[in-house]
Amino acid sequence: MTTSSKLLPVHKRYDITFSHGEGVYLFSEGKKYLDFGAGIAVNALGHCHPKMVEAITSQAKKLWHVSNIYNVAELNNYAEKLVNATFADYVFFCNSGAESIECAIKMIRRHFYVKGQANKNRIITFTGAFHGRTIATISAAAKPKYLEGFEPALPGFDNVTFGDIEAVKKAITENTAGILIEPIQGEEGIKVSDKKFIKELRKLADEKGLLLAFDEVQCGMGRVGKLFAYEYYEVKPDIVSSAKAIAGGFPLGACLATADAANGMTLGVHGTTYGGNPLAMSVANSVLEVMLEKDFFPKVQQVAAELKKALQELQKDFPNLIDEIRGVGLMLGIKINQKIENVEVVKSLIKNGLLTIPAGENVIRILPPLIITSEHVAEAKEKIAKSLNEFKD
Ligand SMILES: *Cc1c(COP(=O)(O)O)cnc(C)c1O
Repeated sequence: MTTSSKLLPVHKRYDITFSHGEGVYLFSEGKKYLDFGAGIAVNALGHCHPKMVEAITSQAKKLWHVSNIYNVAELNNYAEKLVNATFADYVFFCNSGAESIECAIKMIRRHFYVKGQANKNRIITFTGAFHGRTIATISAAAKPKYLEGFEPALPGFDNVTFGDIEAVKKAITENTAGILIEPIQGEEGIKVSDKKFIKELRKLADEKGLLLAFDEVQCGMGRVGKLFAYEYYEVKPDIVSSAKAIAGGFPLGACLATADAANGMTLGVHGTTYGGNPLAMSVANSVLEVMLEKDFFPKVQQVAAELKKALQELQKDFPNLIDEIRGVGLMLGIKINQKIENVEVVKSLIKNGLLTIPAGENVIRILPPLIITSEHVAEAKEKIAKSLNEFKD
């Protein structure tokens, strides 16, 4: 099947059409693919997880949508459960990652506005970050490639070098309201902030009275072997944006915040039609229930260590093709030597039955469902070795 010419041609697509998925596999014309991309870190519990299927089908027979002008039982229930599992006091649900960042940006500005400090409205952001494709989020990330042709950019962002604490200090003025960081940059090529940098950001934000917001749209929701990446960093943020894996494939975003950070988000100042609808809430609830089972994260951490070790062994076997293995938990990257384009390797892996995602810096992202086992690690290792052998000169 080729791509319909009626679609706005903004997405680059591989010539492959999947008919269905089961667990960590996707199927296309009788061929089976081990899915180590998980829809870009979305299918955290794999495809058609029985608990998610049960949640969505039983909810679909009861109630799909009611307006947020009413009480919604599924919304109340999931909000309590999610907030209780995190640093936050409040959550706002929306439909995508970009929207969850929009909420964070509005929250930061409004926090100072209601304190009578409307001049504090600028947000420090970082090079290489990806925050989504709305005008506000491309302005925040300030990546020239994504801004081209869409200017004027929204004002109010000061974009500084990722990982450079001195640059952050220099960028802070009396107008600075907050710091927005994607602590582990996914699109840019699995670039992991070190713990020291994130801890210094927290300290700096406290000293200067700034809000610290994490974009955990990709690195959150179990990806690093804990529910959220801030737990890995041992830092308590003021605001966290989540999406992608949060409902395992059903569109949902969430903006989590402390009561203090959210002080300006009062009656009527923000809203959504679909956000937190019963279908989304039921699916998200089933995902969270699985993730909160006692042995879930220990298992993720165990298999993540095995996968990283397997990739490091591949690096030893192919030192001329692999420059580096990066990442935390099941958010891993293989940096391919510049003599070969990462996309060429990704295409070869597809041919050999393994799905991965290309990223910046010539990295191949390895983002498997969190339910993989040692057997899947071995299968992936074999397939990667097979592909790399094709590129060996
Ligand atoms: C994917 C992503 C977004 C945007 O999410 P959408 O649902 O596509 O709007 C924002 N931030 C990060 C870190 C992402 O990976």
